[in-house]
Amino acid sequence: MSIAYISHSDCGRHDTGWGHPEHVGRLRAIPRALRDDAELYGVLQHLEGRHATTSELALGHAPDYVARVEAMAAAGGGRMDEDTVVSEGSWAAATAAAGCVLDAVDLSMDGRARRSFCAVRPPGHHALPDAGMGFCLFGNVALGAHYARERHGLERVLIVDWDVHHGNGTQAMVEHEPDIRFVSMHQWPWYPGTGAAEDRGPHRSVWNVPMAGGLPPERYVTALLAAVDAATSGWTPQLVLVSAGFDSLRGDPLGGFTLEMEHVAALTRAVVERATAWCDGRVVSALEGGYAPERLGEACVTHLRALV
Ligand SMILES: [Zn+2]
Repeated sequence: MSIAYISHSDCGRHDTGWGHPEHVGRLRAIPRALRDDAELYGVLQHLEGRHATTSELALGHAPDYVARVEAMAAAGGGRMDEDTVVSEGSWAAATAAAGCVLDAVDLSMDGRARRSFCAVRPPGHHALPDAGMGFCLFGNVALGAHYARERHGLERVLIVDWDVHHGNGTQAMVEHEPDIRFVSMHQWPWYPGTGAAEDRGPHRSVWNVPMAGGLPPERYVTALLAAVDAATSGWTPQLVLVSAGFDSLRGDPLGGFTLEMEHVAALTRAVVERATAWCDGRVVSALEGGYAPERLGEACVTHLRALV
């Protein structure tokens, strides 16, 4: 079973500054942790992804927003909102982050790597169709879902988001498409303030799981998997995408969930088991949050081990 670890050197060119929680050190921590696990390192396919094209970005974003990101980066940078920085290298980084996920979808569908983890930044799940938000510029995972349908002719795609924050951007980019189902578990009340359980989207294809912080970790695992099972009752996904945010770990500076490595492993295994029953085990996972770099590196290794 071939599992890919996909990244792109340009993801390091998104320069938010070291004082920003979403800094380049996050991404550097992942290969560092991975090299400590020689056995895992040896079984992974290590791939450099590609850049998404502007027409691929338009699968989920307004073309004038895409052009605005490119122009802002070309002009040396700026800010999309108070938290969302654009630097000179951000266009290259953000198109690479999205492109890695699209590559992972291709690999999964043609069988070269049935499962992948994309170590990318900037993250994507807060990016709106026409605006950057919450450290995110393009909706990497939402784009992957639309791309799987457009490029590979899939109908049913499931997105599972266990970042501690609501994937409001992903929801905005997929909720109009009833055959992309979206399950998001997130701390509540918390940034960005959306994601109430009653918010099911216009086609009831969204399962939001708002949870208090500080609960016993098993509660989060159980709640998320119950929502995944509800979302897939009588509906079999052909591909599973994961918004793997590791700010849901205990001690994250931007979250109050309590997951430990064993819960990352349990969630990953549960998704893989289900995907094996549904769709030949096809899972494409992409990094979202996770702001304690050492823990993030360890979590990615744990996640990859469980994907293998
Ligand atoms: Zn987050």
